[in-house]
Amino acid sequence: MTTTTTSTAFTVTEREQRRSPEEIGAILENPGFGNVFTEHMAMIEWDKGQGWHDARVAPYGPIPLDPSAAVFHYGQEIFEGLKAYRHEDGTVWTFRPERNAERLNASARRLALPELPPTMFLDAIKEVVRLDQAWVPPAGSGETSLYIRPFMIATEEALGVRPSNRALFSVICSPAGAYFAGGLKPVSLWVSEKYVRAAPGGTGAAKCGGNYAASLASQAEGIENGCDQVVFLDAQEHLAVEELGGMNLFFVYADGRIVTPELTGTILPGVTRSSLIELARERGLTVEERRFTIDEWRDGVASGQISEVFACGTAAVITPVGRLAWNGGELTMPDTHEVSLSLRQELLDIQYGRAEDRHGWLYQL
Ligand code: PMP
Repeated sequence: MTTTTTSTAFTVTEREQRRSPEEIGAILENPGFGNVFTEHMAMIEWDKGQGWHDARVAPYGPIPLDPSAAVFHYGQEIFEGLKAYRHEDGTVWTFRPERNAERLNASARRLALPELPPTMFLDAIKEVVRLDQAWVPPAGSGETSLYIRPFMIATEEALGVRPSNRALFSVICSPAGAYFAGGLKPVSLWVSEKYVRAAPGGTGAAKCGGNYAASLASQAEGIENGCDQVVFLDAQEHLAVEELGGMNLFFVYADGRIVTPELTGTILPGVTRSSLIELARERGLTVEERRFTIDEWRDGVASGQISEVFACGTAAVITPVGRLAWNGGELTMPDTHEVSLSLRQELLDIQYGRAEDRHGWLYQL
């Protein structure tokens, strides 16, 4: 556990007319995901001459931008996603935020945006969550949390195709309901053969808006084919399993081995992925990060060697995969979830302060 105070000086302008505790309470009863936003946002400006400056927290609201701002034309945009969890004693914590700060900077390097000092990233989150702490759902209300969305956009007014000389980093927050409010539901996956998500040398390992824009047509194809989400294969051979549009994948073998696609530069390095690898290894399980083909998946399930398949990410922690479908076939996954559910519980217990934070993964807000 890390407890800190902020070192970045933010100018704070508080909203005058705040929602009442009753109104917030009513919203928190059924927040859904990403529909309602809290009352404040953080912003830090960057320009090439001055670097980062004008750190401020202001009432949540529209960002005025010139129509020629680079982000509107060439898509220089990156973002992150993490959560704030309320513990039983009322304190509010987040999970491995330094990882998100590092990943934001990796994305920034790939998208030719400026890197943000990790202390500024953490301080911006702390400032907004401090002001809007009433929006962090109470402990004991299931797996509810406050979703934190840091993002960075290119703001320079110019149509030249080149890295923007100005940028804005911002943090907004939105309460998130329990992902599986009606009980754990295995997802069905569509194997995308027509589209790829990422190619070698591309932006697959960056968390940039363009990756998600490019995944929407394949997601629509998956839904047309009766699936919830899409699994992407490698761009060259269409054989290696990569990840879903917003989650990493794991395969549990009946002999206790766990396989997850290796990070080749085309996959987003998930914070949940890396935490689960550690937790599984601590249990004495063998975790292989390697190339894993769609044929291994089909054969492993058909032969009974693969006993569980799950996807993971900040939103749902772990989601069991129930079915895999592709053009011309489908396969039902085994209905066993023992390893998935127990890893899921272990991670949730750490995040919600019910288990000892032996790795120092929690960060107080
Ligand atoms: N892959 C993609 C493409 C994602 O968008 C996400 C969500 N950030 C993940 C994997 C999981 O990452 P994390 O565990 O850090 O949420």
